[in-house]
Amino acid sequence: MSTKKSTQERMFSEVGSGLFEKAQSYGLEYLSKVFDRNVFPENQALVDLEKFVEEMPTQSEDASKVIDLLHQFGSPATVATMGGRYFGFVTGSVLPASLAAKNLSLFWDQVSAMQVMSPITAKLEAIVEKWLVDLLRLPPNTVAGFVSGSSMANFCGLVAARYRILKNKGWDITEKGLFDAPRIRVLAGRHAHSTILKAVSLSGIGKSNMEWVDVDDQGRIIPELIPLLSDNTILILQAGNVNSGSFDNFKSICQKAQTQGAWVHIDGAFGLWAQASQKLKHLTDGIEFANSWTVDAHKTLNTPYDSGVILCADKEALVSSLHMTGGYIITGNERDGMLYTPEMSRRARIIEFWAALKYLGKDGLGEMIQGFHERAIQFSKGLNEIKGFHILNEVVFNQVLVGCETEEITTQTISKIQELKVCWVGGSTWLGKKVIRISVCSWATTETDVDLSVKSFEKALKMVLQSSNE
Ligand SMILES: *Cc1c(COP(=O)(O)O)cnc(C)c1O
Repeated sequence: MSTKKSTQERMFSEVGSGLFEKAQSYGLEYLSKVFDRNVFPENQALVDLEKFVEEMPTQSEDASKVIDLLHQFGSPATVATMGGRYFGFVTGSVLPASLAAKNLSLFWDQVSAMQVMSPITAKLEAIVEKWLVDLLRLPPNTVAGFVSGSSMANFCGLVAARYRILKNKGWDITEKGLFDAPRIRVLAGRHAHSTILKAVSLSGIGKSNMEWVDVDDQGRIIPELIPLLSDNTILILQAGNVNSGSFDNFKSICQKAQTQGAWVHIDGAFGLWAQASQKLKHLTDGIEFANSWTVDAHKTLNTPYDSGVILCADKEALVSSLHMTGGYIITGNERDGMLYTPEMSRRARIIEFWAALKYLGKDGLGEMIQGFHERAIQFSKGLNEIKGFHILNEVVFNQVLVGCETEEITTQTISKIQELKVCWVGGSTWLGKKVIRISVCSWATTETDVDLSVKSFEKALKMVLQSSNE
């Protein structure tokens, strides 16, 4: 008789074998270095990624060896976005309390579809929904769908708006679709995020049907250029331009749009959180007059990836556009998460979201967000003092745009900064020119991190100028 264990027997024996302790200790080792290490992987670590390349194995592996391999060659090939000197895109770190909550909840492996599948998840979604409505001062009937990020949230906002506009004209989009439906207009500022375009495309409206409104030198919609709107119009505004960090003038625009019967959607992926800071909340004045809002948790709030929210003041529109039915569906009398999201099964990302808000409280959250702004100001002042760098935006929130004497020098300086690995920034295009884009959105960024990074910028520029003189 064979003594070879079945796969099931092996799996039972992995529980309690020290496997989880090992993964945990690797994780802790990683955490202990991530704040000090170079931000981008060393070249060798990138070369070593080849160790993962193989045909799908035929034979089972020891679980412990799977984890070893991942740590040995995976950990060094990560980007230290958790640390304090990653300023790329708009990324955000992870709050320790939120990460620990995720760690615990990994063992729960909950599904967020229905209350009956996970009472704790349904409860926390209901609580965070209330907290957000209160924190962001949105209309009291606003509901939340917890999705993977702002791409998905923008899509949900758009389909809710589409539903409402057509429903009011006697057309049920969920049954009849868009063919032969009354025409919908979608307006956005020229600096709308590219995920808005994706949402317009996914929702069947079509990108070439969009109407664009010109923006000012900070990327804000010029209110006087918005044409007359009506009850067939979706107007998309922005809280936090992904380059300059600027905010549209919500108060005047939203109130006017409201009287003209339009639906206003605000993409506030990282900027909506300005509302949580006493000193910055003037930026979000008037957002309460919109109909739907997008905000990420994984960026400014520093929860683990991935996590975003669609907030919608019209529950019927959101739920009608997204919900599904089936013989086996058991809806509860409280909250069934899947009614508010495109997905049925979703991981219970609300756990880390709740933990972040519970841990910080309103005061801690305000302090953290104010800190991003202060570090961004420090960055811009530091660079402004160095000959050859120019700050190109008003630093109203957490974003800083920097240019050098020529676009060529800017491009080379970005590469050099990345090579030096002290910090990481990417490039972008601003008003037609190549720029360096800095986004401060990690709780771990200290004044020292900014000083070190400014020095690295200076060194990089010097190296570029020297090599061009040679
Ligand atoms: C990041 C971002 C998005 C997309 O969000 P994801 O969470 O990456 O899907 C949309 N809009 C703005 C303004 C953003 O900054």
